[in-house]
Amino acid sequence: MNKGFTAGLLSLSVCFLLIFIPMIFCVNSERKTGSLYLTGGNLLDVTQGKIIPDSLVAIKGNVIIYAGPKKPFDKSSDKTVIDCSGKTLLPGLFDAHIHLGGTSTLGYIPIDDQRKLGAFLYSGVTSVFDLGAIQDWIFSLRDAERKGTRLSPRIFAVGPLFTSPKGHGTEYGVPMSLIPTTDEEAREAVQKLVEAKPDQIKIIYEKGSNHFTSLSYELMEVIIDEAHKHNLTVITHATTLEQAKDAVKAGTDGLAHIVVDQEMSEDLLLNMKQNNLFCIPTLSVFEVFFCGLLSNQKYLEWPLVNKAVCQEIIVDLRKQREIPWIKESSETRMKKFTTAKRNAKMMSDYEIKLALGTDAGNPAVFFGPSAHRELELLVEAGLSPSDAIKAATINAAEILGQGDRLGTISEGKLADILVIEGNPLKDIRNAQNISIVIKNGHILEREELARKINPPEKPSARTEHKAKASKKATPSPKIDTSVAQKIKQAKELMKKGVDTWDPELMKKARASLLGLLAKEKQESLYLLYYIALCDFRLTNYYLASAETDKAETYTKESQRYLEKAMQIDPNFGELDALYASALGFEIALHQEKAMSLGFQIFQYFGKAIEKSPDNPRVHFLKGVSDLFTPEQFGGGPDAAIKTLTKCVEFFEKEDVKDPLKPSWGKEEAYTFLGMAHKQKGETKQTEEYFKKALEINPDYGLAKEELRKLKK
Ligand SMILES: [Zn+2]
Repeated sequence: MNKGFTAGLLSLSVCFLLIFIPMIFCVNSERKTGSLYLTGGNLLDVTQGKIIPDSLVAIKGNVIIYAGPKKPFDKSSDKTVIDCSGKTLLPGLFDAHIHLGGTSTLGYIPIDDQRKLGAFLYSGVTSVFDLGAIQDWIFSLRDAERKGTRLSPRIFAVGPLFTSPKGHGTEYGVPMSLIPTTDEEAREAVQKLVEAKPDQIKIIYEKGSNHFTSLSYELMEVIIDEAHKHNLTVITHATTLEQAKDAVKAGTDGLAHIVVDQEMSEDLLLNMKQNNLFCIPTLSVFEVFFCGLLSNQKYLEWPLVNKAVCQEIIVDLRKQREIPWIKESSETRMKKFTTAKRNAKMMSDYEIKLALGTDAGNPAVFFGPSAHRELELLVEAGLSPSDAIKAATINAAEILGQGDRLGTISEGKLADILVIEGNPLKDIRNAQNISIVIKNGHILEREELARKINPPEKPSARTEHKAKASKKATPSPKIDTSVAQKIKQAKELMKKGVDTWDPELMKKARASLLGLLAKEKQESLYLLYYIALCDFRLTNYYLASAETDKAETYTKESQRYLEKAMQIDPNFGELDALYASALGFEIALHQEKAMSLGFQIFQYFGKAIEKSPDNPRVHFLKGVSDLFTPEQFGGGPDAAIKTLTKCVEFFEKEDVKDPLKPSWGKEEAYTFLGMAHKQKGETKQTEEYFKKALEINPDYGLAKEELRKLKK
């Protein structure tokens, strides 16, 4: 009987990381005729790893027309000449493993696309390769960039990734995965995706993983074969030696991560070298996963991080030091990180093509600055600065078939250039001392970009919220005793409806409340609240019985009444918590709304707790949501137990004297606490809490049924 509640709240888990707010941002019109001359700088030839001192780089429109030793040129008026003496010119950086849908936190901060794209440009990253996102969204962003209607680094993208049911990629709760289960489905899925012109095909292969299921070796082979038939390169996510070997054997063109579980074997290295395969080590994301979320405090203090990372992300990250879902011991993790670096160095020694990628979008892996951290980590692993820069430029361009357009500063290539202070070959960190970023022949206004990333005048969400919350509640009209009596009766009826899971009783309660509302001259808070609560229960019921039309109607109704109630009392957190849960039901009904509603849900829970920190029902609704939120996003049974334990403490202290005030939920809280322990296989606590719930309310059907199931 709890199925609907579960289904509804399950959907609360849908992806808060992958959120987008569309925003069109027009780029200045292209400079078609003007020319840009960069003179006197040290020009880095990334293919040779050599510096050409006192150079000249001439750009016409968006194309480099000369790059080499300085030579005389006529200084006509249509030329912009910039003296770069003492500076180094390198190609714009390329982050070849990102997830633009992510937000670099553990979960709850919505960041609009433009701030993310601006962060890359501010950091000198002029091209990115998205390795897994919602298809329509990422390809439309890519199109906008290509049309010049978005101020953005060049975007390359795989679109959705190929994985298995419950495999890696499905945990985000947003449609960014393709899940074929037969050869035929796999071929069809590739053929269909080809129409959207992905830049590569990405496969998740996690065979042997403790966390996820995996595509079978055979299906991986079929997907690769079909992709190759369409002349598409295949990149595979594999992080163990065995997985990597399988992927290479199946014909992958490259690996999206380095192997972390053990040293790479010579046969694999030779095989990759001979077949000209590539690898994107992504040491940045492994540093976070294996060394701790904010282990690298120094990095957080980088001026580049400060400017290019949204401040609310940093604030959020500082609240939580560890990634909750990583359970391995710190020794095991550190060993993996050391292995990852050693393998990167070995690959480099074997002259396997390494491209720089960060996996930005993951917690504490940032859009832009992390590319510089990756450069540093590659050097730490033993690569020369010149090889690290090569990975970040020409190699990344080449793995995407862009070697003739991007990746070096040379004649005929597109003008994506980074001008920095100092020599990066002497110290790779010099690459962070960015002086000028040029993309497609345009000098970017970096300070303007920084202001867009962190607007100076914008009050923080917190202050804004406080200002709103301090609004005075409109006093509710005094409810006369006969009305109060009827509300009490409706409350009792509804409780009975919940205990026995009978929608007719819930509807009866609702009807009587609506009758009262019609008679009242002025809408009162509790009338609206209880109508919304009836709607909430009914939505739950109809979701469970798969009567989606009815569920749809009731969830909309509950939102409508909650909105009215919020106008009467903007400080009553329970309204926000119920609203968050109602939005969760809406996502259960419409998966495609996950993107737009996901983060709203978390905002509403945040507001609810801020407004009513001691209200047990606020924590109850949040706790149930936690229970069905993947651990990756800070949910799971442990998180739920934490929230629900706090919740029952508040329930134990609660003493509602006014019969009009909400008083529901205590037995439900204990029941869900039991269910959280059940998920962990802790039978003793499970039983204890179900019994506790029945002590509070012997008629509560859900606890009765759960206890019965437990005893079977
Ligand atoms: Zn990734």
